[in-house]
Amino acid sequence: MMQDTYKHKGLRQQMVEGLRRKGISDEAVLQAMADVPRHWFIDSALDAYAYEDRALKIGCEQTISHPSTVAMQSQLLAVQPGMKVLEIGTGSGYQTAVLCRMGAKVFSVERQKGLFDHTRRLLADLRYRAKCFLGDGYKGLQEVNYGPYDRIIVTCGAPEVPPSLMAQLKVGGIMVIPLGEGEQEMLRITKQGEAREQWLVEKFGTYSFVPMLDGRQMR
Ligand code: SAH
Repeated sequence: MMQDTYKHKGLRQQMVEGLRRKGISDEAVLQAMADVPRHWFIDSALDAYAYEDRALKIGCEQTISHPSTVAMQSQLLAVQPGMKVLEIGTGSGYQTAVLCRMGAKVFSVERQKGLFDHTRRLLADLRYRAKCFLGDGYKGLQEVNYGPYDRIIVTCGAPEVPPSLMAQLKVGGIMVIPLGEGEQEMLRITKQGEAREQWLVEKFGTYSFVPMLDGRQMR
């Protein structure tokens, strides 16, 4: 049984105030992060750190992103209720849950079977209605066609902007993607038309994500 105690709620409120101080101003994002118990998405041994602004290990050599990174990506994504959002890198499922809480229809791809199995079940148990898929998100979601998507969020460091991901984004849609090897630059790409010249690229600072791995590196 997952508990959400007064202590957790209080720490979570403090986390949200911290996000405000760091410049997050989108009330829908702040509300969703005030609502979703982040400690449910990490190992209970790390419970005490759940509401600090840090990344934590989630197994399979992966990490749950910093709360401030989740907030920043969610804010840049400018999600409206009912939008179809494709997420690459389900990981712990925390970002997935935040997007669900904001009213998005989330389709999430994870390449590691261990994390995929664990997180799909967790999200279902917690009644977050995301659709989870096992696969190489570099290619987007190709096994089943729910696209094109209003929004695409990548939560692993991509060596380049994956062409098939851009193809699965609606015209008028937005992709938020950390780009680069080692360190990444957070990009927001607004697809104003099909042609590359019509993609508006904006930069939002430097981050450090686990790398996006391709199918050959799958375990
Ligand atoms: N938003 C997640 C981030 C987890 S870290 C969270 O906060 O918990 C990034 C995740 O991307 C890892 O789980 C990793 O396994 C996954 N990943 C890496 N390369 C991928 C790929 N090509 N396709 C899908 N998922 C990938």
